[in-house]
Amino acid sequence: MFDERRQAKLREARQRYEQTLAGHPELAAIEMRLIELYQQRVLRSQSRESASWQAEVEALERQRQDYLRQHNIPQDFGEPQWDCALCQDTGIVEGKICRCEQQRLLESRFRGARLPARLREQTFSRFSLDWYSPTRKTPLGNSEREHAADVLYACQAFVASVIEDPHSATGLFLTGQSGLGKTFLCSAICHSLAENNIVPLYVVFSDLISDMRASFQDTGDSLLLATAREVPVLILDDLGAEHVTDYAVSRLFDIVNHRRNERLPMVISSNLTLTEVATVYSERVASRIIEACQPIMLYGEDIRAQKRKLGLVD
Ligand SMILES: [Zn+2]
Repeated sequence: MFDERRQAKLREARQRYEQTLAGHPELAAIEMRLIELYQQRVLRSQSRESASWQAEVEALERQRQDYLRQHNIPQDFGEPQWDCALCQDTGIVEGKICRCEQQRLLESRFRGARLPARLREQTFSRFSLDWYSPTRKTPLGNSEREHAADVLYACQAFVASVIEDPHSATGLFLTGQSGLGKTFLCSAICHSLAENNIVPLYVVFSDLISDMRASFQDTGDSLLLATAREVPVLILDDLGAEHVTDYAVSRLFDIVNHRRNERLPMVISSNLTLTEVATVYSERVASRIIEACQPIMLYGEDIRAQKRKLGLVD
């Protein structure tokens, strides 16, 4: 997609160049002679140009500039008009994802259709403790509601620590049965970071895997994988819900290991416990997650089921 846009710009620049020259024969003559001269140098691979070559090129460059100025033609009339001068619309600068692409991903994947509409409503201020029992105890001895309040606090503290210093923030591994608010907390973290101008990537792990597979077949490269590795904060939702393959395991290790080494924080949510992650994805994946993330267990009763019982639409 990036490439199509780039190609279109290059085509457009070429057309503009040719049309300009067609309308300005005098300019075209200068251009042709200059091209000829530069080609001569390449063909002869001269390390130092002869004095006459130098003099002719300089005279022509001056004529060209004067002509352009007199006719109100921009100096870069043959150059593509990039949306982003930094990466010339490639999305990559020095092997890293350009800011423009991070922004585009944020918009398309987080603000746009990728994050479903109902998730966009899920902010810290809308996280309700009412769904957690004030009487039922967790294995830690506090009530499920008290525990949920602690979890909410830990998620907000994570955002605060990322804002303070992304490289010293410890990530989170949110675990527990489904329907306990893990995805809610993931999207609330996304919102809160985005409000503070930090670009997170929110992605459901199974979507990431299918996107990588598709784009590797297409272009041999995955921009989403590159982004998942390099983005300031990665929110990886619902690990373990996908069909686990060797491919998924090695990609997951790659992402988690890279981010841990580069001290780039991540939030991972999963119905699996860390012990189960070790069994399903390997010990080394689990150990990298433990090194980079604080494990947080959610307790309670499936909120979706509670809502259904009350006749509330989720
Ligand atoms: Zn750019």
